[in-house]
Amino acid sequence: MSPSTLTVNRRAYAWPRQPLAVVCVDGCEPEYINQAIACGRAPFLAALRENGTCLTADCVVPSFTNPNNLSIVTGAPPAVHGICGNYFWDRDAGAEVMMNDPKYLRAGTILAALADAGAKVAVVTAKDKLRALLGHRMAGICFSAEKADEATTAGNGIAGVPALVGMPVPPVYSAELSEFVFAAGVKLLERERPDVMYLSTTDYVQHKAAPGIGAANDFYAMMDRYLARLDALGATIVLTADHGMNAKTDAFGRPNIVFLQDILDHAYPSGTTRVILPITDPYVVHHGALGSFATVYLSSPVDLADAAARIAALPGIDVVLPRREACLRFELPEDRVGDLVVVSERLTVIGTSRDRHDLSGLDAPLRSHGGISEQQVPLIANRGAGALPAGRRWRNFDAFDLALNHLQ
Ligand SMILES: [Zn+2]
Repeated sequence: MSPSTLTVNRRAYAWPRQPLAVVCVDGCEPEYINQAIACGRAPFLAALRENGTCLTADCVVPSFTNPNNLSIVTGAPPAVHGICGNYFWDRDAGAEVMMNDPKYLRAGTILAALADAGAKVAVVTAKDKLRALLGHRMAGICFSAEKADEATTAGNGIAGVPALVGMPVPPVYSAELSEFVFAAGVKLLERERPDVMYLSTTDYVQHKAAPGIGAANDFYAMMDRYLARLDALGATIVLTADHGMNAKTDAFGRPNIVFLQDILDHAYPSGTTRVILPITDPYVVHHGALGSFATVYLSSPVDLADAAARIAALPGIDVVLPRREACLRFELPEDRVGDLVVVSERLTVIGTSRDRHDLSGLDAPLRSHGGISEQQVPLIANRGAGALPAGRRWRNFDAFDLALNHLQ
């Protein structure tokens, strides 16, 4: 018998009464959906105006993929689950440490807890980098579109994925990689009828195309068709995003970049400052490792207040905060954040040194994320929600709370 409620990371969740699909659409600025609806390309989502729920939620800052996906599946901010970016600087080891390994995860997921309590759970991600984190200690189905052909019953709880989905494994930089996730969700719901699915796409399209632009509307029309099928199969759907997305250019489409390491190296002795860009990952072609969030480690004789004032005075910088203040405001783990947190404005990104960013892979004007300007994301459901608490600040990591505790 399944329990009536489940408590995970100090939050209680009602047991799912019907199949639930929580969908994290990577880089889904609310305007993408609004424009697709306005252009008549998303009839299913348009109809949710009548019988669904539409909230605007705040994601976690840094508005990056991993911290937010982990927040959604744990129902908690990075201060609790520990994943605050792709990289942090290990002062003791003197090395940049990649946080893609589940050993850096400090909290259990709602998905794993549901599975432990007897629910049938399935997780599908676009890129493989998230799979191990999202599926950590989870019994059930968990695979990526990127490596769908390598999925095995022993390792992923399922084999023969491309045949099931009816699509070949798409290239890693493609809209089809996300389509594969949705298509797999529909097929899994038909065949396996999981109690809970978590579907997480990639922001390849959103990095290239602004809301309302051809490729963006094509993507959302595609998504709309699959959501309609999930709905027709009886699933409760909650859709949110890991972060928004903005152009990071001037009016001529040239990137606005603050090369922060170059600026600090000019002001202070070399080796006394270290700029870490937690957006950096093995897949940088679509954003050149440029985002609107950086953390800076300082060592003697650099004065923290002096460095903070110097950075805050730069054009395009939004906020500069010392570690403690930043971790309080953004709910981050203090031991994985530098002495300063630097966030740039909507049109500006932060780089390290000019010679460390390869922008040759950018074939469209730079669009990226990471800042407070990409914090607002949709939180949408295909069910009504009754009376929601007035004045509540919704977060994207309330997706399971909304789905299981509030929807009708
Ligand atoms: Zn993302």
